[in-house]
Amino acid sequence: MINLTINGIDVSVKKGTTVLDAARSIGIKIPTLCYMALDCFDVRTPGGSCRLCVVEIEGRPNLAPSCCIAAEEGMVVKTNSQRAINGRRTVLDLILSDHPKDCLNCAKNMNCELQQLAADFGLTKVLYGGEQSTYELDLANESIVRDLNKCIMCRRCETACNTVQTVGVLSGINRGFESVVGPANERPLNDTKCTFCGQCVTACPTGALTEMNKTYSVWQAINDPNKHVVVQTAPAVRVAIGEEFGMDAGTVATGKMVAGLKRMGFDAVFDTDFAADVTIMEETTELIERVTKGENLPILTSCCPGWVKFFEHQFPNLCNIPSTAKSPQQMFGALAKSYYAEKVDKQPKEIVSVSVMPCLAKKYEAARDEFAPEGVRDVDVVISTRELATMFREAGIQFDNLPDEQFDNPMGESTGAAVIFGATGGVLEAALRTAAEWITKEELGKVDFEAVRGMEGIREATVKVGDLDLKAAIASGLGNARKLLEKIEAGEAEYHAIEIMACPGGCINGGGQPYIKGDETILEKRRQALYNADADLPVRQSHKSPAVIDLYENYLGEPGSHKAHKLLHTSYTPRQNA
Ligand code: SF4
Ligand code: SF4
Ligand code: SF4
Repeated sequence: MINLTINGIDVSVKKGTTVLDAARSIGIKIPTLCYMALDCFDVRTPGGSCRLCVVEIEGRPNLAPSCCIAAEEGMVVKTNSQRAINGRRTVLDLILSDHPKDCLNCAKNMNCELQQLAADFGLTKVLYGGEQSTYELDLANESIVRDLNKCIMCRRCETACNTVQTVGVLSGINRGFESVVGPANERPLNDTKCTFCGQCVTACPTGALTEMNKTYSVWQAINDPNKHVVVQTAPAVRVAIGEEFGMDAGTVATGKMVAGLKRMGFDAVFDTDFAADVTIMEETTELIERVTKGENLPILTSCCPGWVKFFEHQFPNLCNIPSTAKSPQQMFGALAKSYYAEKVDKQPKEIVSVSVMPCLAKKYEAARDEFAPEGVRDVDVVISTRELATMFREAGIQFDNLPDEQFDNPMGESTGAAVIFGATGGVLEAALRTAAEWITKEELGKVDFEAVRGMEGIREATVKVGDLDLKAAIASGLGNARKLLEKIEAGEAEYHAIEIMACPGGCINGGGQPYIKGDETILEKRRQALYNADADLPVRQSHKSPAVIDLYENYLGEPGSHKAHKLLHTSYTPRQNA
């Protein structure tokens, strides 16, 4: 341990702790816009870019950035001296001198860390005028808007993209006043190997990176009398949407969310979880077939479009091993425009299929060429959890006062196996709950597979299924996925099944979720909430869902049937790694 004093208070911290974290340990939050630490994922930005966290350290003539200086034995630190506070105020004034002042119209309004700091410092006027940077917006993709006029060069997005995700799209380019963070040669994101995971959006403290807003398209559809508009909601949305309305993190707000969607005017409010159960039917069938034949192993899950785009670019030789099952979003869309359309006697083109996702990559996924058979998109519009909250507010829906209401049928019924899709390890556990019974032909006494749960970036488990020792691995975060894929490529992996989610922690931490602003306890609460929701459901295995049984008996036939393949499976495209 290292002993120091901060503002005259004795502090004891582990060797290697920064002065900024040492101050936090005694309840002093030194402002910063670049430093970000998420210990649950072992993520730490280098810091030192914004210089907002300066403090006085005895014996040093200059103010020092507390985020990149380690505490030393006997150090005497002042975080609240007039000199330190004036230093931070000057830095803030300088950042604001080259920042647009359009907070009212900014997508990050009320969520911007720069705006919050200006309020915290009581800034009431712009001190420094001068030249302003001007950049064109990057609007050339479905998922992410880049507005470099609002970039403060904190470089958190670089850490998210390069260190955590190992995608390597973003870096500092140009010099001096022209410096920006972006893809090489200032290319639009769409022309790169970006996976649209949105982890850079989650990390960005300002409105420089935000989601592509599609709320207007949803209102347009709802108000078109010639359209039948259905909505699906992903599992991770229900455990995060309440945060936008002041509810505690980890509140399961499924019933209120459904009630709010009905008040918005959708013709039917459905659950992506229904399709998650169908995903398990298809994916488990594939898993058992491959394990039985001992071919094409390990099978990789395919429900995360960020991960799919990652392996298409970075591991094109492995495009044959992921499951061919579409993601639950796309399965839902395909069934909404076929199975459901027939039930309500509508043509596919009369139905508008909207999805509410924790994810920005799902916007990109819905627009992929292969998901528009005969010119009709399976999913027409994708909005994020944050966009749904905006729409509720726009419509004057008092979310916290809503009653709990039920999803509509037939695509609103689901199981506990489906709800845990929102957390890392959940898809694999859901598959195991079905595979174990299908392989052994015996009922499972306990359906929980706790060995595959957790937040660590890579986890391994061997699960006894009859005579088979099923070897599984789970990775969340693309940097961790890369480590597993490199083992597979080198022939060093002996797994039967691997679950991969692009976002660290899975969809609970997706790029479209309410911003956590560095508070990692929120993620753990969301994760726990999903497992609580699972435990509360009467049916917890996908193959026992009455709605799924009915779908197969009366429409699809067997899992893996010709019709199921046509509607529910896909293929992958090797892409340039540039
Ligand atoms: S969306 Fe993901 S892959 Fe794309 S730039 Fe951001 S962090 Fe990198
Ligand atoms: S885009 Fe956002 S996260 Fe990236 S450097 Fe600029 S302000 Fe920071
Ligand atoms: S982990 Fe979930 S939220 Fe993140 S990119 Fe994949 S599907 Fe989207």
